[in-house]
Amino acid sequence: MATDSPALSAGLRGTPVVPGLAFGPALVARAEVPTEAVARFGDGGFADEEATLAAYDAAVEQVSSGFTAKASAASGAAAEVLTASAGLARDKGLRSAVRKALRGGDDLLAAVHAAVEQFVGVFTSMGGLMAERATDLRDIERRLVARIVGEAEPGVPNPERPSIVVAEDLAPADTAGLDPEVVLALVTERGGPTSHTAIIARQLGIPCVVGAAGVMALDAGRPLLVDGTAGTVQVDPDPAEAERLVAADQESRAALATWSGPGATANGQPVKLLANVADGPSASGSADAPVEGVGLFRTELCFLNRAEEPSVEEQADIYESVLAPFKGIGHVVVRTLDAGSDKPVAFATHEGEENPALGVRGLRLSFDNPGLLERQLDAIALAAERSGTETWVMAPMVATVAEARDFAAAVRGRGLKAGVMVEVPSAALLAPRMLEVVDFMSIGTNDLTQYTMAADRMATDLAHLTDPWQPAVLQLIAITAEAGRQAGKSVGVCGEAAADPLLACALVGMGVTSLSMAAAAVRPVGARLGATTSEQCEDVAEAALGADDPVAGRAAVLEILGG
Ligand code: PEP
Ligand code: MG
Repeated sequence: MATDSPALSAGLRGTPVVPGLAFGPALVARAEVPTEAVARFGDGGFADEEATLAAYDAAVEQVSSGFTAKASAASGAAAEVLTASAGLARDKGLRSAVRKALRGGDDLLAAVHAAVEQFVGVFTSMGGLMAERATDLRDIERRLVARIVGEAEPGVPNPERPSIVVAEDLAPADTAGLDPEVVLALVTERGGPTSHTAIIARQLGIPCVVGAAGVMALDAGRPLLVDGTAGTVQVDPDPAEAERLVAADQESRAALATWSGPGATANGQPVKLLANVADGPSASGSADAPVEGVGLFRTELCFLNRAEEPSVEEQADIYESVLAPFKGIGHVVVRTLDAGSDKPVAFATHEGEENPALGVRGLRLSFDNPGLLERQLDAIALAAERSGTETWVMAPMVATVAEARDFAAAVRGRGLKAGVMVEVPSAALLAPRMLEVVDFMSIGTNDLTQYTMAADRMATDLAHLTDPWQPAVLQLIAITAEAGRQAGKSVGVCGEAAADPLLACALVGMGVTSLSMAAAAVRPVGARLGATTSEQCEDVAEAALGADDPVAGRAAVLEILGG
């Protein structure tokens, strides 16, 4: 094993996003198989052709069953492509080509490469759809090589044993099928506290540290102790001590499990605590949490793998699977497609924009494609009617009062309650006027922070700016909440800020009426709020707003509320 860099031996540090301790082996998700592992493997030292082919067959089995498992978790076109890849990996012709190359004197890795190249040549010469299979073949080759040399397959694998997933960064599509039973924690080299890795980790309720520079230098299997509260990653910790710390952490987390809602301050001021959900399964899971409904259903996350726009009927079925579990519990806020920028959806987004975060995303997609929004609203209305659940609908990326007015008319025309998200600073500055034309507002602090501070929410080196404790961001929240108070309309927060127990108290002190977060974050927020009076909430709001920076803001709030 190579000698560790001093940074690695001292432990790594990043931005903590989901509290909790986890101890387990690193499962490093890479785009490519590490060259050192390939060099170390060499010719594999097999006794004869039979042994070499047996190693090939074993790798084929692992790769193709991986595709099959992913296919059964996916649907539509994605499932078809994955099933086809499983078949291609098992292809007998490919195996014969490998055997032929072995007989010609190639070692196993060279033989696999030669066989794949031969097939790529054939497919490419056929043109059209077959030519596209060349990309799948090269992907299969990378996966076979990884399995043969004993590394994890490129991309984000689902662990075979409980592991800590370490990656450069995670896109929503990468993580669609991650299983919280076997993913103990997430650590990424890039990404800030509002990145999608952070959002997904909160949804899964697993400890997470992002922006941990140097973590990709780790070998697969290295034992790690991840502290999602302190933001540290210790390499090769003492196993007995690590197990003890994890057990103690689980005990204290279990103590929070007794908080049962509903959300209120210590003196009984109600604050609706709501869930952020991504699809039917996450909605069903969240309905058991102590929440009073859903404050954000991110509809675009249902369609990340879809090449074609689903029909109104199919969309209605998906939306109904989210609405139905909340019948009798509370309302569900459905957000219309927030495709674009960091969440590309093939059938909706504009290709090749210079600056997608400032481009045609969210509601803006309806400007030149109004049918997309109309059909989605029809599907939401259908699902609302079938489920009988109180349904509110809001638009992302709203910048002007005219946009809010037009959107509200389209939603109310279908008998539903209409709102807008506050993600663009203009929406906060115009909140009193926006509230004249909509029924509610919901503050998306992830994008509001990005756009207020002009700092990409994915940028690791700007994590101090992409922090919702930035006083300028809090100022815009306070303006919006005050406008809600004046208008007597509900103003919630559905960005990651709502999941931070200390910040949640400050938000309530500013006048925010609901907080929406991953279900796993609800109990710590509810417990903290329940121990804090409305007056203390106002004091901490004032302290956070008056602080010079996030560090000073957190310190001032901790000083008032204690530990
Ligand atoms: C936000 O921007 O805060 C938000 C909730 O939307 P998303 O994170 O999906 O962009
Ligand atoms: Mg947003």
